[in-house]
Amino acid sequence: MDLNLLNEKVENAIKNSEKYKTKGNVATYIPELANVFEDNFGLSIVTVDGKEIHKGDTDLRFSVQSISKVISLIMALEDYGKDFVYEKLGCESSPYPFNHVNTITTKAANPFINAGAISTTSMIKGKDSKEKFQRFMDKMKDWSKDKDITFLEKVYHSEMETTDTNRALYYILKSKGIFDLDVEDVLNRYIAGCSVGVNTYNLAYIAAVLANGGKSLDSNEQFIESDNVKFTLAQMSTAGMYEESGKYQMSIGFPLKSGVGGGIMGVVPGKFGICTYSPRLDNTGNSLRGIIVLEELSKELGLSLFE
Ligand code: GLU
Repeated sequence: MDLNLLNEKVENAIKNSEKYKTKGNVATYIPELANVFEDNFGLSIVTVDGKEIHKGDTDLRFSVQSISKVISLIMALEDYGKDFVYEKLGCESSPYPFNHVNTITTKAANPFINAGAISTTSMIKGKDSKEKFQRFMDKMKDWSKDKDITFLEKVYHSEMETTDTNRALYYILKSKGIFDLDVEDVLNRYIAGCSVGVNTYNLAYIAAVLANGGKSLDSNEQFIESDNVKFTLAQMSTAGMYEESGKYQMSIGFPLKSGVGGGIMGVVPGKFGICTYSPRLDNTGNSLRGIIVLEELSKELGLSLFE
């Protein structure tokens, strides 16, 4: 991929998106998420051959939220294998909001709605809660090549205090026999995972590893098994953008995962990983300006996998 062309198209897309700067609203249902500067915007791209583009507020640490569900899915797949994971979990998109009780029938619809991520979190191995979460943090640090990734205490406490819906989802799953673990352990780790502070560089780097078939960009180490990359990218395409995942596969056309903290992580297989950050969301929970930029880039560079 020609880096100059990519850079030029990125600059144009960001400029053209400026009129959306004040559109949409930051998430407030987790009170601490409202304490961000609403108009921030950052974008990072990391190509599979290690080249980088960074624009805007790329150093800013924001809450990873739902994008952490990608890591939990990969870990569950690594720890238990696909058959076990999908016995406990569906793989179809859901027309309901990410924390809606209807996202659960006999099991959670997919790994990227809350009930699904609570399920994958229950499948992360470790001798105790501390070790399970440490393994999750270590993966994030290794795959993003950033040992300084932090945990946003305030976001964590704010969500723990307001998480009755997730607690209800946990008990519904438990009643369906999906798991029988300590509720506080699973909820703590799920919410702690959502409260990890990342910047756009971190998520673009993780996305680049996925774009590179799960291989480290620096060594030949296979960070993520290639089959698990394939399953994860399929799920990002079908369920990564909440109940509007299909719509954005039509207009953007590559695997995506967004979070209510304002991040969107995208994977263009064989080419690059990308992350946008802009905390103003649309009604579904997707970063509004992030989508506008990704749509223009996809169109200008022919990035859709379906064309
Ligand atoms: N921690 C958030 C929740 O459980 C994640 C939501 C999201 O980013 O989709 O509601």
